[in-house]
Formats: sequence, C-alpha cells, structure tokens
Amino acid sequence: MTRTTPFDWEQFLDRITAFYHTGDWRVPYLRDHAEDPFQVLIGTILSQRTRDENTDRASARLFAKYPDARSLADATAKQIEPLIRETGFYHTKAKGIRACAREILDRFGGVVPQTLEELTSLPSVGPKTANCVLVFGYGVPGMPVDTHVHRISNRLGVVRTKTPEETEAALRATVPERFWIPVNPLLVQHGQNLCRPIGPKCPECPVADLCATGMALAAGRRPPRPADDPSVRARATRARIRPSARAARPRRRPPLR
Ligand code: SF4
Repeated sequence: MTRTTPFDWEQFLDRITAFYHTGDWRVPYLRDHAEDPFQVLIGTILSQRTRDENTDRASARLFAKYPDARSLADATAKQIEPLIRETGFYHTKAKGIRACAREILDRFGGVVPQTLEELTSLPSVGPKTANCVLVFGYGVPGMPVDTHVHRISNRLGVVRTKTPEETEAALRATVPERFWIPVNPLLVQHGQNLCRPIGPKCPECPVADLCATGMALAAGRRPPRPADDPSVRARATRARIRPSARAARPRRRPPLR
C-alpha cells in the first residue's frame, strides 16, 4: 500500500502527542532530558531482544557499579554477567558491552562519538543503536528504526520497505529533519498501545484518517493482508512453526510511557 499524497507529519505528531499526553514535541524534546550518551549506548545494546522492564533493571544494576567507559572496560565478563542476566543472551552482551567500552576508551578517549559512521564502527552497535545515541544521548536528529517504527511507517503508507534498514533510509529521505527526534519515541508509544503488531485498534486511533491502513478500513476496502506487513508476516511464520510456544506466551499490555 503506497500513498499518493504527501504525509502531514506535523498533524500526525500533534495528534499522537495529544492522545498520549506526552507534551509538546516542538519543545526541544531532550533539551533537559538527554541522558548520558555512554549509558544510552550500553542500555540500547542491553535492550536487544528483551522487554523494557528487564533493560531498566539490568541497566540500573550495571551503571551503579560501572557508570562509564573506563570502569566497564576494566570489568571482567564474569563480573558483568550477573548484573545483566535478565536481559537474556548475557554471555554475548557482556562481551559486547565490555569490548564497546574498551574501544571508546582506546579510540575516542572515553567519549562516545557523535557520528553514525564512528558509532557503527563500535562492537555490537548497529544503525538503530547508533541513532538512539544521537537522539536520546546527544539530542540531535537521528532516525532510530525498531520494529514499531518499521511496522507503523509501512501501515501509514509513508514507506514501502521490507527491513528496518530500508525504512531508516526511506524516512531519512522523506521526513523533514525537524520531525526526526520525536518520530521514534512517539511511534514506539503508539506501537505499544494501539498500533500493535497484531490487531491494531484502528477504530480508536487518533490518526486513522491520515493512515493508509486506517483509510482503507474506513472506506470498506480490504486492509493490507498479513503478507503486506513484514512484522505480521514474520510472526505468522513463527506461529506456524512453533504453535505451542506461541500459545504458551500470554500477551501483556505494556504501560503507557
Ligand atoms: S489507523 Fe490503524 S494501522 Fe493506522 S496508525 Fe492507527 S492503529 Fe495503526
């Protein structure tokens, strides 16, 4: 499903912020809230393939002992692993974050770099993590694309892509830069609540009349089939392969942020 008219990002962001009561996105979002870039970087690596609550608890434990690149680089994997165990894949993550801290120390004097190229040259740092550091650590425009941003951008009809990497490139090319910083936090919030991977609540959605999927439903046209939605297609495939595992996992509603 592709759009034939330009997408009104300003109206979209206005409505999403009003709906979730997240405040004015025009106020420099992270001016007073930008976090320590090193802790954003390490926390984002820890957040891979786990829930936010697990990341938050593990990060608090880790940074209480190793708050910066120097202290983490000097720690051993055995010292790090118990602190981050609940995020899963803790052997790999412990090695990865330690190596990352070591390179920041050796190559960048202990200061997390501020360019995508330098950030993605670090161990365990991909495009999403690098963009998160720019946006949430330095408060400068970046385009972190996770599964929520990828899925919703396709449903809105603003991109037609198969991977988060393609979505990042497409959004960078089409979204005016003044909208970049709020796009990720607001789409993630929307994806955790109404625009879920399966069963989006389009009739309740404040941007349904801006959304290609919402407009199709309102007009009585068939919404995109699961095969048109990369994230749903992937889940459907997993469900066919492991039906018992899927049934055994209850779905919990994430809290509003
Ligand atoms: S209308 Fe439906 S698909 Fe579109 S953004 Fe809203 S919940 Fe998502």
